[in-house]
Amino acid sequence: NAVGAPDYLSGLNPEQRAAVETTEGPVLVLAGAGTGKTRVLTTRIAHILATGRAYPSQILAVTFTNKAAREMKTRIGMLVGGQVEGMPWLGTFHSIGVKILRRHAELVGLKPNFTILDTDDQIRLIKQLIRAENLDDKRWPARTFANMLDGWKNKGLSPKDIPEGDARAFAGKGRDLYAAYQARLMTLNACDFGDLLMHPIALFRANPDVLADYHRRFRYILVDEYQDTNVAQYLWLRLLAQRPSRGQGDEAAISPLEGEMGGSPEGGAPGATLGNVRAEAPPSALPGISPSRGEIDASVSAPIPAEGRKGDRPSAGPAAPVQASEQSERSAVSENRPQQINICCVGDDDQSIYGWRGAEVDNILRFDKDFPGATVIKLERNYRSTGHILGAASHLIAHNEDRLGKTLFTDAPDPEDPKVEVNAGWDSEEEARAIGEAIEDLQRREDHDLNDMAILVRASFQMRSFEDRFVTMGLNYRVIGGPRFYERMEIRDALAYFRCVCQPADDLAFERIVNTPKRGLGDATIRLLHDYARERQIPIIAAAGEMTETEELKPKPRNTLRALIANFRRWSELLPTMKHTELAEQILEESGYTEMWQNDRSAEAPGRLENLKELIRSMEEYESLPSFLEHVALVMDAEQNAETDAVSIMTLHSAKGLEFETVFLPGWEEGLFPHQRSLDEGGRTGLEEERRLAYVGITRGKRRVKIWFVSNRRIHGLWQSTIPSRFLDELPEAHVEVMEANTSYGGYGAGGFGGYGSSRWDGGNAFKESAYSTPGWKRAQAAQAGFADGASGQGGRRGGDGWSGGRTREISYDA
Ligand code: ATP
Ligand code: MG
Repeated sequence: NAVGAPDYLSGLNPEQRAAVETTEGPVLVLAGAGTGKTRVLTTRIAHILATGRAYPSQILAVTFTNKAAREMKTRIGMLVGGQVEGMPWLGTFHSIGVKILRRHAELVGLKPNFTILDTDDQIRLIKQLIRAENLDDKRWPARTFANMLDGWKNKGLSPKDIPEGDARAFAGKGRDLYAAYQARLMTLNACDFGDLLMHPIALFRANPDVLADYHRRFRYILVDEYQDTNVAQYLWLRLLAQRPSRGQGDEAAISPLEGEMGGSPEGGAPGATLGNVRAEAPPSALPGISPSRGEIDASVSAPIPAEGRKGDRPSAGPAAPVQASEQSERSAVSENRPQQINICCVGDDDQSIYGWRGAEVDNILRFDKDFPGATVIKLERNYRSTGHILGAASHLIAHNEDRLGKTLFTDAPDPEDPKVEVNAGWDSEEEARAIGEAIEDLQRREDHDLNDMAILVRASFQMRSFEDRFVTMGLNYRVIGGPRFYERMEIRDALAYFRCVCQPADDLAFERIVNTPKRGLGDATIRLLHDYARERQIPIIAAAGEMTETEELKPKPRNTLRALIANFRRWSELLPTMKHTELAEQILEESGYTEMWQNDRSAEAPGRLENLKELIRSMEEYESLPSFLEHVALVMDAEQNAETDAVSIMTLHSAKGLEFETVFLPGWEEGLFPHQRSLDEGGRTGLEEERRLAYVGITRGKRRVKIWFVSNRRIHGLWQSTIPSRFLDELPEAHVEVMEANTSYGGYGAGGFGGYGSSRWDGGNAFKESAYSTPGWKRAQAAQAGFADGASGQGGRRGGDGWSGGRTREISYDA
């Protein structure tokens, strides 16, 4: 067996290696950016497989994005010699949640072919419910309620658990609306994103036998970006990770599961090697590693305190089964020794950037309490960035008070290494132009691939100027997590047709297309359908089918509807046999949808037809229409042409975990970054989260980081004068170079940008006295811009859809 170091271990430093080889027991790796946390997780999985500790199907591994999951899969394959056929349980919380839910949908009252609502559907549904409660949906906007819903679900709260204040929100209807919403989803055989975690949690609590099945299944649990888990994710994980012993059944518990074996890994059957753990365990005296029982002896593990488990269930799930499960857990714990929990979480408190969406950095801080006897490993060497980049990032993040504080080091900066650049521009167009030139320059001079470069923005509206510019230049780019292909109107319509075919209870989809193209099925008919469906508690398509047999509809709409329903039936029947791409094409043809655009004289019509073609093309990779629809529902970070060489444009939020040779950070201006809304709503905590975001941004760079700020920015059509971000003041002089403003843009010197000329920006030594680090200068700038107080930022900037702090899912919190 693997006593000498296998290849995949040889490149690791001792701490990383310990994190990989301490396979048994709870392990927490708490370490700064670029220290190899993700690499440790990947290698750990490879190690588990290569030493035969488990089959791929016995490993649960959670990443933050689908992209990260794919990358991890590829890397594992490389490490263990390409023999990993599938890691079925490697994915995001959401994608794993949906998989679990599909298997046990009935247990929560759904059918296995349930639909996952997108934001649009959700809003439409909430609007209906608000109106049904006789509330004015202008005064009580659906989006606000959707936000509240998100908040509750992130905290794992079902209607009965929400705080009283929230229950009274929305004219006292908060709780009722939530309950009605959930009930409606059930009738629609649908769930929203939050439910992908909420349902499994309720399911596990109410069905101990199902949970026990997963306990047996998942021998190893691994979680990346643990600092950004929210309460629901945390509860879900704890249910899966904290288990009572199955008594004598330990051996059975680790045998491969029926029908799910991903091929037998080298080194013998899983379960046969438990005894090797002791021999293979690393010496416990490695620096930075706290000694722990879990690390030294796999067979001895800490008991789980009863109150720890109780904390699991403040919410969802019917009361009686919960009681029962608690009972059985209790007795199991008291009578048998608890089963070993092989969970490994990695994270960095300084990179916690989803607090605004319910992430709780506390989860990482109390790991030790949740999993007593956990081995905590620190990694301190940064392998990603140059000394300048690391120096700048570390200095910046040190301004935060709420942090554990970690050591991070790398080799001393090479004299050749570029410092972190700070550039000034006039407006976002110039910023885009200059960055575009810089990209071409790097391509030419440094032989950089476009793939090695990324532009990381604070808010998604910033992307447009880059897209426009790059299109003009003919520069390849891809937007990651931005407004996506699948969100275009024609694509949504087409998808709605497909959804009706795959899932005839999908009312929302049906409503979207019942009169698209125009068929003369007006609001009155739809209302009749609605009433009929509600009365009988059946889906609208079914109602339509029934109503066409009665006299309730006028002959014309009745015949139209009958023909449409007949079409849907026929398409549904073709679903199992016909090639899905052909069926999809046929649906669009026969429904008249394609024709509608062919007859459309508008300028966009040709583009829409092309998009529809592209949609069919993009289906080819999938086995079936349902699996394609699931993909669409889940994939939030749609990459465009993943293979071609292209600059990536994305929000800072979606850049987490990634790395690039060169990183451009535009828009470092007060009000934009730090974002005004974070400051307004979060106070110091909000500011600190913004600073962590800046830390994340800088630490994505391996060799070059180029920061930009401009003095005028147009936001939602309004020009705003801006002040350089306070974060610029927080960068250390030693690692930063302030670039001279390019004189060819000199025309603006007389405007708000006065004094910005070379005299203040001449070379590196200007930094100390640099204009923007002087509060007086800021005040002067602000006064010029019409603000009384320079520090108060830009009042007019709050809200708006384009902000990445909003509820849009463009941030890759995808599933
Ligand atoms: P983040 O906090 O940003 O997610 P991370 O801690 O997950 O960072 P990784 O992405 O795993 O860090 O690693 C950063 C880079 O350092 C990667 O390119 C990785 O391959 C490299 N790296 C990690 N460990 C080593 C090592 N022991 N030797 C050489 N390179 C390493
Ligand atoms: Mg990582």
